[in-house]
Amino acid sequence: MSLPPSGTRPAPAREIDMMRCRACGREDRASEGYPCDGCGTFICLACTIRGATLCRDCLQRNPPS
Ligand SMILES: [Zn+2]
Ligand SMILES: [Zn+2]
Repeated sequence: MSLPPSGTRPAPAREIDMMRCRACGREDRASEGYPCDGCGTFICLACTIRGATLCRDCLQRNPPS
């Protein structure tokens, strides 16, 4: 029954990785968003919930038929 001492795993909790969503332009946590289906750029969780899987650029290039 020996627990490892806390602080052994690197946890950058204070560094929140904010990224700009390429679909709506807002900044959100990169870890909570999803990559664009077309180019892999960041799309925020709110857009993903709304059904957006492509960023604005990809949407213009490949409009849903
Ligand atoms: Zn968004
Ligand atoms: Zn894209």
